[in-house]
Amino acid sequence: MASWADFREMEHTRLGYWIKEAGDVTSLPPLDADRDADLLIVGGGYTGMWTAWYARRLAPDARIVLLESEPLCGRGPSGRNGGFVEGMWTSLASMRGRWGDMPALAVGHAAEAAVERIAAFCAEDGVDVWFRRGGYLEVATTPAHDGTGRAALAACEDLRVPDKLRDVTAAEVQTRCASPEFRAGVMEPGAATVQPARLALAIRRRLLEQGVDIYESSPVRRFREAGDGVEAITATGARVRAPRGVLAIGSAAKAAGGPLRDRLTVASSHIVITEPVPDLLEKLGWTGGEAITDGRALVHYFRTTPDGRIAFGWGGGRIAMGARLHGRTEVDPDVVEADRRHLLDYFPDLAGRRITHAWGGPIDASPTHLPAVTSLPRSRAWVAAGYTGNGVGPTNMVGLTLASLALDRTDDPTRLAFVDAKVPRVPPEPFHWIGGEAIRAGIASKEEAEMAGHRPGVISSALAGVPKLLGFHIGR
Ligand SMILES: Cc1cc2nc3c(=O)[nH]c(=O)nc-3n(C[C@H](O)[C@H](O)[C@H](O)COP(=O)(O)OP(=O)(O)OC[C@H]3O[C@@H](n4cnc5c(N)ncnc54)[C@H](O)[C@@H]3O)c2cc1C
Repeated sequence: MASWADFREMEHTRLGYWIKEAGDVTSLPPLDADRDADLLIVGGGYTGMWTAWYARRLAPDARIVLLESEPLCGRGPSGRNGGFVEGMWTSLASMRGRWGDMPALAVGHAAEAAVERIAAFCAEDGVDVWFRRGGYLEVATTPAHDGTGRAALAACEDLRVPDKLRDVTAAEVQTRCASPEFRAGVMEPGAATVQPARLALAIRRRLLEQGVDIYESSPVRRFREAGDGVEAITATGARVRAPRGVLAIGSAAKAAGGPLRDRLTVASSHIVITEPVPDLLEKLGWTGGEAITDGRALVHYFRTTPDGRIAFGWGGGRIAMGARLHGRTEVDPDVVEADRRHLLDYFPDLAGRRITHAWGGPIDASPTHLPAVTSLPRSRAWVAAGYTGNGVGPTNMVGLTLASLALDRTDDPTRLAFVDAKVPRVPPEPFHWIGGEAIRAGIASKEEAEMAGHRPGVISSALAGVPKLLGFHIGR
């Protein structure tokens, strides 16, 4: 087991390893004067930046302004995530249940196309974001989770897209990554991993080359209708006016009010990363770059890096009271300690190796577990969030949709089922937080018992079953 001294040496910060590894980049100046634009985008994460990217392609002469509150784009979850680039085939069964067969298939194909566009972006000259297509494995780690991924697999077969996911036996899983805990699962062969902060910075750089006006350190304090369009006012009082706007502010969409306020839960996810352990990866046979998750609702997700580290995340962080994005949502020593323990459960040979960094970030969890694009009144602006920890690939798909919507086009991307979809409401605060934390504790306790081979308690099982009773979806 890692010694306490090793653990104390670990850097536990809000921004984490990827942003540090990506290196220093000079911030762009804040907005300091009023200006007009053809398209206003608030938020410089992947959603906002991909929206600008596609808007630039669809309207080469448009004046596109993007406002980001942090000193650098990509400092939110977009630069801090696990770097899994997936489509949405593992959500096919749940999409089908929500939207019907054809709409679910259309989103599946659109999300897959987004992964291919990201692959093409990463193959461009000068873009080094560690894109590696090693596939995504979802594996059971306890008999209680056997059958994980089977519903999505069955949906793919049923809807005649059998090549999108495939069965993986326990023996094959062991050849790909020989953790003593891993059992059978399913694989999405087209999935990849990236260094997320490098990806965010690469998009930012390309946008600047293409004449998109990005203002950093420019938090928007008010966003409202103005004349025939919309207006954003930043903390210094400077304004941008445009006929159309996009709010791509991730988890901040809940606290901002508006249509997603009652349709999001802000939870927290944390990641720890080891020192380079290439010898151990060889021993595990984990040299194919596979991105892996277990089958828990409070999911563990893990991948390797080119220098042989293991990044290991856990989606079991606390629910953010009042949707607060900082504090324990980003730096939570208790959750990091649990994450470290779970890492050693899955990879006991890591005992004695160092964990070098830990960090966390907010998850914009939707009751449907699926992204949502919602029109603000009079369709002059749109807000997008709800990726529920699976946004690296889907933000590109949503960015294409938002660009089309904001340029008043009607085309296939604007007809996808997540546009103005019906999403169940979450209760108001403080009931939302109290209930959410109770359910989280119930699921965590149930899953700990399952991992230990015990029967989960009646209360934890009952609490873990509440989301389903409410029509909410937890897990894939
Ligand atoms: C720890 C962690 C691990 C994850 N792992 C994965 C993974 O492996 N694979 C995966 O697919 N997904 C993963 N995710 C989810 C993924 O990171 C997100 O779905 C995705 O980054 C969402 O992008 P976004 O642009 O919508 O939001 P964000 O990245 O949150 O960007 C929103 C931006 O808006 C800015 N902003 C907010 N308010 C304002 C304002 N008022 N004015 C101006 N700017 C504002 C923020 O500063 C931020 O830069 C993970 C998330 C976390 C936290």
